[in-house]
Amino acid sequence: MNGFGVYNDTAVAIVALKGCGVRRIAYVDLDVHHGDGTQGFFWNDPEVLTVSVHESGRYLFPNSGFPDEIGGPDAPGSAVNLALPPEAGDDAYRRAMAEVVLPAVQAFGPDVLVSQCGVDHHHADPLSHMRTTMAVYPHLWEALSALADEACDGRWVVLAGGGYDPCNAPPRAWAMLMARMAGVDLPPSMPDSWVQIAADAGCRHPATGWTSEDRLPDLSATSGTTRAVDDAITATRAASALLG
Ligand SMILES: [Zn+2]
Repeated sequence: MNGFGVYNDTAVAIVALKGCGVRRIAYVDLDVHHGDGTQGFFWNDPEVLTVSVHESGRYLFPNSGFPDEIGGPDAPGSAVNLALPPEAGDDAYRRAMAEVVLPAVQAFGPDVLVSQCGVDHHHADPLSHMRTTMAVYPHLWEALSALADEACDGRWVVLAGGGYDPCNAPPRAWAMLMARMAGVDLPPSMPDSWVQIAADAGCRHPATGWTSEDRLPDLSATSGTTRAVDDAITATRAASALLG
């Protein structure tokens, strides 16, 4: 793990699960950066599937995570990488879940799902170029939750991840995620306490809605994105024995 990761909490969690007797573990990493550290840690372990959805390493640190990275000689097929093009947007993430993450994990058949739920693909994040919006997060969390229920009887470990605009996606997206896990209904607007906390932290216009945006990303100039997303998904599916 490079970048801002000091301790590889995801690998620690997986090793801890193995120490508890869990045999097969599927790890899903939605952080905009490739999950290189965790993939590398379990590269040759056929009982840990790592699936990373990220901005392509052609454009973003750590410059890895291409479809041909499929696992070591003792564990071919245990790594799945979807390298999305910049400016891919919400639809690409919905497709990533439906066409790569869900079928790969279901085919693997894990006992536990571990997910790294970085939100640094949001369009306001300063470190990436993916242009997702708040509207995609309820869909992502619901899809992961349903996957945990269907693939491993609800056994699901959730970790946060990247997110570098504290006034936007991280607090709201992760609160929605925790509420989803706990089965708690959210109030219609953000609590007053959040508005004050955000204001004190220097957020000039704290969001008051769970999925509201100060501004929306402009995807009008990226007409090639859909084709590039098609190509990325096709390459990942072709490379993975789980998705063939
Ligand atoms: Zn990241």
